[in-house]
Amino acid sequence: MFGLHADWSLEVFERYFTIGDYAGGEARWCPGCGDHGVLTAVQRLMRDEQMIPESTVAVSGIGCSSRMPHYLGTYGFHGLHGRALPIACGIKSRRPDLDVWVATGDGDCFSIGAAHWIHGIRYNMDMVVMAFDNAIYGLTKAQTSPTSPLGFKTNTHPFGAIISPMNPLTVTLGITNVSFVAQVVDWNPPMLYEALKAAHRHRGTGFVRIIQRCPVYADSVSKALQGDPSRFVLLEHENGIPLDKSVQRAFPNKVNHDPANLVGAFELARDATRLPLGLLYRNPDAPCYEDFSSRGADMTPEQKLARFSAVLDTVTI
Ligand code: SF4
Repeated sequence: MFGLHADWSLEVFERYFTIGDYAGGEARWCPGCGDHGVLTAVQRLMRDEQMIPESTVAVSGIGCSSRMPHYLGTYGFHGLHGRALPIACGIKSRRPDLDVWVATGDGDCFSIGAAHWIHGIRYNMDMVVMAFDNAIYGLTKAQTSPTSPLGFKTNTHPFGAIISPMNPLTVTLGITNVSFVAQVVDWNPPMLYEALKAAHRHRGTGFVRIIQRCPVYADSVSKALQGDPSRFVLLEHENGIPLDKSVQRAFPNKVNHDPANLVGAFELARDATRLPLGLLYRNPDAPCYEDFSSRGADMTPEQKLARFSAVLDTVTI
């Protein structure tokens, strides 16, 4: 910001961003939808970390949660179904200076976008990936998704889903060069906030699976979890996600888990009877693809042409 004095000199004021600076259009998710809480957590975090709105990009695919870029006062790219990650990787490839946030859902990421999910995690570009998992295709009104529980009745499986749900955590942990995997629930705001903060501060792809309420089409799925905290196990460690006492008290099952332990993370993720909450894995030393792909991005067209000509001059036809 600038202030103009009577002597025509300029005074530069330090900018301070408020929550309002991160507000986009009015959110049109259903009342009670878990997406509202995630949006609030993201906006609070952006304010607390003083992220520059014009240097921040929200990228999404298609689905209810993929409407997030419309509701943030940052740059945004509402992409094609399943294609949030290649768009985000493309942005990061040429503009590594931008803060990239990806909003994708269980249908968007784990089904049509599965190939991009695998390679996006492997590329480990510095971004936050929020995988909103409500176990249903909500935007298109209740079709079975890859994470719908066995026997869950949907429009595509009126007698109940006939294949067991996939496990997004074990898949992600199994991808080469994975560097950050966390799991949270949308109805615990402090945990959600801290997990997103840790993912944002991590250099690499911070993958956060958010177990998300869809009270319209999959109410029984989230209600069964919300009403029984013993279905979860809280991951505790000095290098994990910091949680205050009120969060710790809400969950009777706790386990000490070092997020550097990938094998231990697998064991926790595989247990379908007790869903882990917190940080499963973090490797701060995994290489980030943009460190290679962005080389030369700051060159002028003349410099690029000169470099191109120099390379051609090494070739004899
Ligand atoms: Fe949220 Fe479900 Fe409504 Fe979509 S259909 S906005 S996921 S409550």
